[in-house]
Amino acid sequence: MTAITPATIGFIGLGNMGTPMASRLIAAGHTVIGFDLAESARARLTEAGGRAVGSPTEAIAGVDVLILMLPNSAIVEDVILAPEALKALSSTTVIVDMSSSEPLRTRALAEKLVETQGAVLLDGPVSGGVTGAVNGTLTIMVGGGINPVESVTPILSILGKVVHAGDTGAGHALKALNNLLSATHLLVTSEAILAGERFGLDPKVMLGAINNSSGRSGSTENKWPNFILPETYNSGFGLRLMLKDMKIATDLCAQLGMPSLLGQHAVELWDRAAAALPATADHTEIARWLKENGE
Ligand code: NAD
Repeated sequence: MTAITPATIGFIGLGNMGTPMASRLIAAGHTVIGFDLAESARARLTEAGGRAVGSPTEAIAGVDVLILMLPNSAIVEDVILAPEALKALSSTTVIVDMSSSEPLRTRALAEKLVETQGAVLLDGPVSGGVTGAVNGTLTIMVGGGINPVESVTPILSILGKVVHAGDTGAGHALKALNNLLSATHLLVTSEAILAGERFGLDPKVMLGAINNSSGRSGSTENKWPNFILPETYNSGFGLRLMLKDMKIATDLCAQLGMPSLLGQHAVELWDRAAAALPATADHTEIARWLKENGE
């Protein structure tokens, strides 16, 4: 596909991230045909000026670019490999799986799609959360061939900064490894701040000092001050989605024969938190869980 402006973009998965991303594409002048299982999500797309449709097939047929922003690889495969979806998919459509999916499954899916349909699938997971999705400041880690990547870069640039990570699957690998770091930082940051608080330190004073010191991270600069200290726990990124990403990363380490000793221990702790917290828990609630249950 050559870059077309305005393009017709299919968008499947209009949740916390998908809705603001689709809204930015619409605001930039593109036509967005979107589908989500949730009626409320489809209604939000209509409000933003998009065309909500009643089936994935209608969001796939005849589009220049198809963006998927779904919970995981299994759902991505179910959506795109459904017989009616394959029938509707054109060989000229570039598919970008922006979900945080599993890198080796992504490679296998891309190979299958190119062999059977002649269609290219790129991976383009994102970092930057709901705020980044709203403001168009996401980091987009793209995996795939240079030509298709360049063809979709003008569209992806509306959503954030495009980093060409490497071949198919490289974006999904990078994203999962980033989130293993992010989750592990958040856990150990929470342990440190809670210990400091027990000692008598003011967490705000701690964060101010740490953010000028070597212990700083996204957890000290963003998550603790904005979602944990105010006790709102509303970052918009679910605890179970974070846990899924951590497991993708530690599974990848295992598949590569690489150690992930600390990562696996972090997974165990997040698993315990997930078992104790409601299904809708935000990932920042790991700090609350630690405070109430950690021993
Ligand atoms: P979400 O749960 O808010 O949204 C997912 C949407 O997919 C929901 O609206 C759901 O109804 C829809 N859906 C599920 N199955 C479907 C199907 N078969 N057909 C159509 N729609 C379907 O999740 P999110 O927070 O928007 O995350 C989406 C992806 O982005 C995930 O892979 C997540 O790991 C990743 N991600 C999230 C964030 C964040 O801060 N929320 C940041 C970076 C990456």
